[in-house]
Amino acid sequence: MAEKLRFQVVKEAFKRKPVEVAVPTERPSEYFGKYVFNKQKMYKYLPAKVYAKMCDVIDNGAPFDRSIADAVAEGIKTWAMEHGVTHYTHWFQPLTEGTAEKHDGFVEHDWKGGMVEEFEGKLLVQQEPDASSFPNGGIRSTFEARGYSAWDPTSPVFIIGDTLMIPTIFISYTGEALDYKVPLKKALYAVDKAATAVAQLFNPDVKRVKCNLGWEQEYFLVDEDLYAARPDLVMTGRTLMGHDSAKNQQMDDHYFGSIPARVENYMRDIEIQALELGIPCKTRHNEVAPNQFELAPIFEETNLAVDHNMLMMSIMKRVARKHGFRCLLHEKPFKGVNGSGKHNNWSLATDTGILLHAPGKTPMENLRFVTFIVETLKGVYDHNGLLKASIMSATNAHRLGAHEAPPAIISSFLGKMVTDLIEHVETADDDMLSVAGKTAFQLHLPSLPELLIDNTDRNRTSPFAFTGNRFEFRAVGSEANCASAMLTLNTAVAEALTNFRKRVDELIEKGEAKETAILKVVREDIKYIKPIIFNGNGYGEEWKEEAKRRGLDCETSAPIVFDNYLTESSVKMFESMNVMTKFELQARNEIKWETYTKKIQIESRIFGDLCLNHIIPVVTKYQSMLIDNVSKVMSIFDKKKATEISKTNLVIIERISEHESFIIENVEKMIEARKAANRIDSEREKAIAYHDTVAPLIEEIRYHVDKLETIVDDEAWPLPKYRELLFIR
Ligand code: ADP
Ligand code: MG
Repeated sequence: MAEKLRFQVVKEAFKRKPVEVAVPTERPSEYFGKYVFNKQKMYKYLPAKVYAKMCDVIDNGAPFDRSIADAVAEGIKTWAMEHGVTHYTHWFQPLTEGTAEKHDGFVEHDWKGGMVEEFEGKLLVQQEPDASSFPNGGIRSTFEARGYSAWDPTSPVFIIGDTLMIPTIFISYTGEALDYKVPLKKALYAVDKAATAVAQLFNPDVKRVKCNLGWEQEYFLVDEDLYAARPDLVMTGRTLMGHDSAKNQQMDDHYFGSIPARVENYMRDIEIQALELGIPCKTRHNEVAPNQFELAPIFEETNLAVDHNMLMMSIMKRVARKHGFRCLLHEKPFKGVNGSGKHNNWSLATDTGILLHAPGKTPMENLRFVTFIVETLKGVYDHNGLLKASIMSATNAHRLGAHEAPPAIISSFLGKMVTDLIEHVETADDDMLSVAGKTAFQLHLPSLPELLIDNTDRNRTSPFAFTGNRFEFRAVGSEANCASAMLTLNTAVAEALTNFRKRVDELIEKGEAKETAILKVVREDIKYIKPIIFNGNGYGEEWKEEAKRRGLDCETSAPIVFDNYLTESSVKMFESMNVMTKFELQARNEIKWETYTKKIQIESRIFGDLCLNHIIPVVTKYQSMLIDNVSKVMSIFDKKKATEISKTNLVIIERISEHESFIIENVEKMIEARKAANRIDSEREKAIAYHDTVAPLIEEIRYHVDKLETIVDDEAWPLPKYRELLFIR
């Protein structure tokens, strides 16, 4: 049965044709944002005064005035109903990595025996989802299970199918954040305030600093029927067993290769849908591993970019099925080939321009550039362990430090130009400061054409690399909510900038000229941040040693890495920047440990099941066939001759037995390890037990399963093999 099934599935998967996509007759620029209640729609559907107030909220961060809620809701309803919308939902980001929604219809009784479509302002603005079963880390006791979702007007509402989607924050009755959006928005506010204060030292006209995020989403596509034949993929999103394919990525022929037709149609489809939802998709290409691809939009304001990424991931999963694919967002679906990340391109920009653009035209602009680079690195250095925690998960742990990008140590690559520039600022002659007045110092910058600067020699091994006008945080996992990394990074940078401004002000108060004060503090910090700068090969063993010497966080165990959230310096940072309280951090850590445990637990269970119920029976059957053959040979030849003829079969029979007994014994051991871990009360200790005792057994046993795959008759093997999963498209 099983053998027939696999071949059948493979054959059909091979024959599958590309699914045609209905391409709109309009140009992308014309259908962009078709299903979004953006400013254009607001202008059309809202009264002029209400429109002006909404613009103030969106552009200037003014508070949303509840008195306009009804008018806004009415405009939204009219627009939505023109698109056939019948339902609405608050759409939020609980601490599950996904999004949550509960749909309600517009219809209400009209109390004349009929019904009428209604959508009042209060429904737009706030709701109370019965959300007691979302992770809350003990913040809400069951008797006070209420949670509130409240509209985030800086992220516009949009339509999916017949439903109006309203992006919301999610908080507990007592005001603690139960989602990613609340702390993210607070972090963005903090970095705005801190960066504006520093930017004003250089240009008093700066009013706001905005944080930009451009994410690049990597993913795998697997034929849907092959996927269905792999219970491990279905349950955990990754293959828990599978021998290397003879060919994988060693020929480097997939990266940027021509896109296979079935995949190209899929990409076209998701792009059209994304553009209609206002996600500014721009780039698509093949990635390094076979069947691995990437999609990237143009960067946007961070809060919006995060929402768009969450939305994009759900579009990618949904549309894949239409094309006979499953979209894998797991960080490491296949052993032996590259995993998937989500590079987060991060930058700060004032209302007058990007702050990280190098180098400027005047010495003062260059000093500003250096200041922002150095203070960003100060935030990253001070909290390097915490930043690692912000991107750590049971799934991303397979990438971090596991022989591929990026290593489990946070450091920053600056490239030669910026490194030289910073060194120059550190060592330049003090005299330069006082030539012909206060601002006449020279930085003697090498003048490079823009093009060269944008293409700073890129170091792909660095988890936090400067790439021309932004930093690229590459350690973020493909499946993760970007908000986790972005809120941590922005809070860290906000703290560094706040501190910077404070020290500069102190010097100015003591009578120092502004420029001198800035330079003094920058120079101090340049000396301080040196250990975080690393331009070498982040994959090398030497780097691990060197990083330890530099005092960087080198821990690789996920549950222990999470401790970084609760160190004194992390709590102080989050509390002083008004992003999260110690109580919230503790609650979130409980969730992180619990989630870690559950993921390994599920993997271990399904793995045990596959071993005992899928692999061992097939292997035993194959072995019996061989034994049968040997005994028949024995019955027709004399013993010496028969043994000679059966030599190889006897070896195989023995090998199979060895692998089999290892598997059976250790699956037993793994189950015992799970039981022991389950008895532990503390979530932290339990997660550590799962990490130390359960997870390694999966890998050890896997080795033997993979060996068996190379021994047993191909026809009998029940699970689609790597060469099939990775090369059929
Ligand atoms: P690569 O793969 O070479 O790093 P991509 O073109 O795939 O580059 O993606 C780069 C991402 O960085 C895009 O989302 C782009 O919009 C974004 N980006 C470019 N400039 C900035 C910036 N100043 N701030 C934030 N993101 C940026
Ligand atoms: Mg990139």
